[in-house]
Amino acid sequence: MAHRIPFNKPYVSGKENEYVTRAITAGEIAADGRFTKACARILEERFSIPKVLMMPSCTAGLEMAALLCDIQPGDEVILPSYTFVSTANAFLRAGARPVFVDIRPDTLNLDETLVEAAITPRTKAIVPVHYAGVGCEMDVLGEIARKHGLLVVEDAAQGVHAYYRDRALGSIGDLGAYSFHDTKNYVAGEGGTLSINNRALLERAEIIRDKGTNRQKFFRGEIDKYTWVDIGSSFLPSEISCAFLLAQLEQLEPILQRRRAIAEGYAERLAPLERAGLLRGPRVPEHCRQNYHMFYILLASEAVREGLATRLRQDGIQAVSHYVPLHLSPMGRKWGYEDGSLPITEDLAARLLRLPLYFALSASDQDEVCDGIQSYLQA
Ligand SMILES: *Cc1c(COP(=O)(O)O)cnc(C)c1O
Repeated sequence: MAHRIPFNKPYVSGKENEYVTRAITAGEIAADGRFTKACARILEERFSIPKVLMMPSCTAGLEMAALLCDIQPGDEVILPSYTFVSTANAFLRAGARPVFVDIRPDTLNLDETLVEAAITPRTKAIVPVHYAGVGCEMDVLGEIARKHGLLVVEDAAQGVHAYYRDRALGSIGDLGAYSFHDTKNYVAGEGGTLSINNRALLERAEIIRDKGTNRQKFFRGEIDKYTWVDIGSSFLPSEISCAFLLAQLEQLEPILQRRRAIAEGYAERLAPLERAGLLRGPRVPEHCRQNYHMFYILLASEAVREGLATRLRQDGIQAVSHYVPLHLSPMGRKWGYEDGSLPITEDLAARLLRLPLYFALSASDQDEVCDGIQSYLQA
């Protein structure tokens, strides 16, 4: 069904056509051409990331991160259940067992106070997910990881151009992955990254990304022919996708500011309902700078959430719930999780509703969304 006011519309800057055409005209459309390098350079410089590897998706970035963690069968990885399936699947495919930890009631991020209790001698990595582009408690998680000799892999899919204590999300753990999927703030259709923040992992990363060969060394003239040296895959985005993406990364700031204006508009318009105890908006800790990836509301109950979503849909407005907790999915239950295993996750997932938030959302459309919420909740 087409919605009059959809949940999302991918942003287009207007330069995408020109850049894609340039890539085609230059005859450079495979990976690691000028546009791929330009995107990586912008991300490295803006976010102080030692090495950004452009990826076909964030999922691919996480899968490569799992390979770099050198997971052995039976190893465990700690992650939230309230996340996208790729956070878990990437490590599962590498042989790990997912250990789901509950989330904080304020940010819906991995509850750092519960992580240490979930560590066993088989734990290999902690995978915090920066939900809605709001940073997890990276200092605490980093300290725990150091103490127990674990790697930290940030699922920063939603965290491009967001900060924790002035450090860019995705630049803080040993590894980090961004997404440029259609639904994110900066889009390439499909696309992502893997940040290599721990330089000890860089050499192997280059090899795994290039089909398990040392071709990057060959390109740099460090060896005279390249060969098969490790496991690997083709973790390469097309130059066409990166040409498209460059047009978006050149607009990091305007896109952020527009999203911010919309999010602040929601916060302001819905404040009376929040004061009346009818809903709750996002919480952002003092030391985090968000990127306005999402504006969600938490309703009093699942029934209210469903009723409101239905009413909005009837008015042509698409407001959507988010993750079905992974531990309650058919896959997640295979590890013995059941209803009640992660109470905060289960409670919040049932009550959360995401509102339309995209660059082209007009003020009158936003008013309509707010009016719809108000009339339903105050009826
Ligand atoms: C979007 C998203 C992903 C997957 O990103 P793709 O680029 O579509 O592979 C992974 N994790 C989280 C938290 C996401 O929001």
